[in-house]
Amino acid sequence: MQNTSASSAHAGGESGQPGAAPGRGEPTRGPGRRAAGARGGRPHAVVIGSGFGGLAAAVRLGVRGYDVTVVEKLDEPGGRAYVHRQDGFSFDAGPTVITAPFLFEELWSLCGRRMADDIDLRPVTPFYRIRFHDGATFDYTGDAAAMRAEVARLAPGDVEGYERFVRMSEAIFRVGFEELAHVPFGSWTDMARIVPDMVRLESYRTVYGLVAKHVKDDRLRQVLSFHPLLVGGNPFSTTSIYSLIAFLERNWGVHFPIGGTGALVKGLVSLIEGLGGEVRCGAEVRRITVENGRARGVELASGERIAADVVVSNADSAWTYRHLVAPEARKRWTDRRIERQRYSMSLFVWYFGTRRQYPDVAHHTILLGPRYKALLEDIFQRHVLADDFSLYLHRPTATDPALAPPGCDAFYVLSPVPNLLSGTDWPAVQERYRRSVSALLEATVLPGLEASLATSRLLTPQDFQDRLLSFRGAAFGPEPVLTQSAFFRPHNASEDIEHLYLVGAGTHPGAGLPGVLSSARVLDRVVPDASKLL
Ligand SMILES: Cc1cc2nc3c(=O)[nH]c(=O)nc-3n(C[C@H](O)[C@H](O)[C@H](O)COP(=O)(O)OP(=O)(O)OC[C@H]3O[C@@H](n4cnc5c(N)ncnc54)[C@H](O)[C@@H]3O)c2cc1C
Repeated sequence: MQNTSASSAHAGGESGQPGAAPGRGEPTRGPGRRAAGARGGRPHAVVIGSGFGGLAAAVRLGVRGYDVTVVEKLDEPGGRAYVHRQDGFSFDAGPTVITAPFLFEELWSLCGRRMADDIDLRPVTPFYRIRFHDGATFDYTGDAAAMRAEVARLAPGDVEGYERFVRMSEAIFRVGFEELAHVPFGSWTDMARIVPDMVRLESYRTVYGLVAKHVKDDRLRQVLSFHPLLVGGNPFSTTSIYSLIAFLERNWGVHFPIGGTGALVKGLVSLIEGLGGEVRCGAEVRRITVENGRARGVELASGERIAADVVVSNADSAWTYRHLVAPEARKRWTDRRIERQRYSMSLFVWYFGTRRQYPDVAHHTILLGPRYKALLEDIFQRHVLADDFSLYLHRPTATDPALAPPGCDAFYVLSPVPNLLSGTDWPAVQERYRRSVSALLEATVLPGLEASLATSRLLTPQDFQDRLLSFRGAAFGPEPVLTQSAFFRPHNASEDIEHLYLVGAGTHPGAGLPGVLSSARVLDRVVPDASKLL
């Protein structure tokens, strides 16, 4: 993996000499100039961004015969899964609940390797410990009998309804995930084809609506409906298709790699390099070059131009069209259309290490606040920063103690907050907000927290915009409502530009690791075979 924005084996100019900078406006690679830099005569694919969607796309394109260059703005790969290392602690910035391990395993096996040789993936149980505002807890696991017992303890009258919900979640999974997550939705007919299934599976309901149809207890309704929040959706407006997550977790479990999620990032980078591809960090794309309606390469912020036969953007979909593609090249994704989309919530994340350990705290804890629906309305509809919150607390050292110095614990706590439409001045309020989050943790599951802090860092909606280039600072791209799903989401094969493709949270099927890994699977169906471009 290189860390440079100025030179690379791909930036060879006419001479093909590594580091010999090409003249401005002169493509360094691509059709017509292959003698200058092509390795093995393979067509060149440039992937913008090294999030999980971009890395998975790079692996798949490499396997299919492309010479792949990933260009990443940040100094390390991973995107939302970037790893912060400070004061002896290691913090995975984003994804921590690893589901659908088979999607990762597939990438290794496409390369003729075994994931287990590189990654030590451990099952985590309980999946989540849910703590209600009154202090009562619910252990959410994949064990059918244990879950039945937990439901019976919380809401004896809802056991049958819970079982019905689980069966419904499986039926939705069979269609929503197995049949639809990896296929392109490029035309109306693709959409029309699935309407009968959507009606049968009650996709017109929201996740909360579906749960409420089956169980009555208010707390159980929260336990069974929070999942859309993991992919940026409001349970009260996200289509019930997302109820499939419950079955996905139950059937394949929740996992965490030793070394943290960053171990998976590292593993994928090694697959890309093993295929002869390259991941260039510190290389921000300023523009996708388009000629006669076709993507021809990218231009970096440094001015360097890289020619390509196909361009895949793993950058935020709204940002890609709004800032990387000239307006005259966009018919569908106009500025106005981009502005009018609904964007997901954002997140306030506080990463911290403690000088002591909290062995009673589970790997994943959800602390539900006093309000559920009203808080979600504040976040998603009213766009106001509320004084109360519901939190997700991550203690990776519960599974891998080596992520913190001996005797210490690493944590992050995440609070769903409105995106930048709230107008919140985050630099001004972030410390006050952190203190109120800390006070709640101290009063509940982490006594003595402030006094034992060893290290600390924050991520706010402003950082989602400024650091990760996410439109409106949304943490998960366009909100996953029915009218922004499948055909209605920015397509994996750009509607506006030939040979431009999209992967990641902002395209089909959507956010979350299973979603973005599936978006890369879609590419197998829409990107031409490498042989066709030679
Ligand atoms: C705090 C947090 C916790 C989460 N927890 C979970 C979880 O537990 N489980 C789960 O499944 N999902 C989780 N998610 C969601 C999941 O992490 C994301 O949906 C997923 O990682 C997004 O991947 P992506 O492929 O869209 O790329 P991203 O991770 O968004 O990466 C995009 C990359 O593109 C780069 N980029 C952008 N613009 C440019 C440019 N112009 N030039 C070059 N590079 C550029 C960015 O720097 C970034 O590295 C979480 C998300 C967050 C934020």
